[in-house]
Amino acid sequence: MRCPFCSAQDTKVVDSRLAGEGDQVRRRRQCLECNERFTTYEHAELTLPYVVKNDGSRVPFNGDKLAAGITRALEKRPVGTEQVEDALNRIRRRMLASGEKEVASRQIGEWVMDELRALDHVAYVRFASVYRKFEDVNAFREEIEQLERELPPEARRQQLDLLAQDGTEE
Ligand SMILES: [Zn+2]
Repeated sequence: MRCPFCSAQDTKVVDSRLAGEGDQVRRRRQCLECNERFTTYEHAELTLPYVVKNDGSRVPFNGDKLAAGITRALEKRPVGTEQVEDALNRIRRRMLASGEKEVASRQIGEWVMDELRALDHVAYVRFASVYRKFEDVNAFREEIEQLERELPPEARRQQLDLLAQDGTEE
């Protein structure tokens, strides 16, 4: 396949292994022209359910859009791309496992929040504050306090520092 950096035709596979709990093949490729490396995934094509938006309209599931939303929440956070990919795969699997032809966008949002909550609390709060459109300051505060209760003291201190740096406190 073409190099996404310079569009050269020749790329070679430098590493190949199973990913996503064995239902994908992850390949590291290197461009023979510019030497940049990139990753491709090969997986069986399965029909994902349609997404039903809040206004009732139906749209095909858009994995890129979902990935972009998660990446935005994780901007400048110490979370690796592989962890993000694993999270996306888990969400995809949950969609498939539902066995439904349609899934509510709200449900997908909840799954994203499950993933972000486990990955990084700052990203979680960022996403949740946009997604849930916290109606008032109290709802937001409750969410933060809930997170603080779940964290061990050391992690709590770090998270609070990060929150402070991030300017999302108060
Ligand atoms: Zn290239």
